[in-house]
Amino acid sequence: MDQALQKKLIEAIATTVIAHADELTRLDQQIGDGDHGLNMKRGFDAVLADIDNLAAKSLPEAAKAIGTTLVMKVGGASGPLYGTLFLALAKALPADGEPVATARAFADAVEAVKARGKSQEGQKTLLDVLVPVGTEFAAGGDRLAARVKARAFAAADGTVAMKAARGRASFLGERSIGHMDPGARSASLMIAAVCDVVGG
Ligand code: ADP
Ligand code: MG
Repeated sequence: MDQALQKKLIEAIATTVIAHADELTRLDQQIGDGDHGLNMKRGFDAVLADIDNLAAKSLPEAAKAIGTTLVMKVGGASGPLYGTLFLALAKALPADGEPVATARAFADAVEAVKARGKSQEGQKTLLDVLVPVGTEFAAGGDRLAARVKARAFAAADGTVAMKAARGRASFLGERSIGHMDPGARSASLMIAAVCDVVGG
């Protein structure tokens, strides 16, 4: 993949997450322990600090380096899960970012997150965004980036009505209903950032 585009992609993901750190923290204050924004900001600050190095790597090698950084820096439940997402992408991503192979790699990576979290769709987690995004991505077709982005935001909104069955929010039982899952929100922001860059 073109180095300038790769740099733009990584920067877009990182700056979007950082810009929404306060919002992510507020969401985590509702149904968790209020650290999701700070956790994610710490991870993506480290990614941004390494941006020139990351841009110079092949796409899979960059994904591997980002995954390693997220595992080390984010912490909490989300660090290992987002770390797993990028590390699994590193194993399967095509170097040229070809869409069909990339969609297949994304599907593999979502499966790896499920295995790591012992979780699945419907439990009010970041998987409630990643799974439908994977489905939309794999469908291909016209206006793909715009459709994937819309699906990501709608899926995050969809977690408001869900009862949490994984993570800290699950301790609240019924009281977790009525709030957006912070991890679902961060996942939707990252997906939207990618879609904005590749969709022009
Ligand atoms: P912690 O819950 O340890 O404080 P964060 O606040 O950074 O970690 O992340 C919380 C988010 O992690 C949740 O909103 C949820 O989306 C996600 N999460 C937690 N546990 C799981 C799990 N087992 N599988 C998938 N996602 C999970
Ligand atoms: Mg938390």
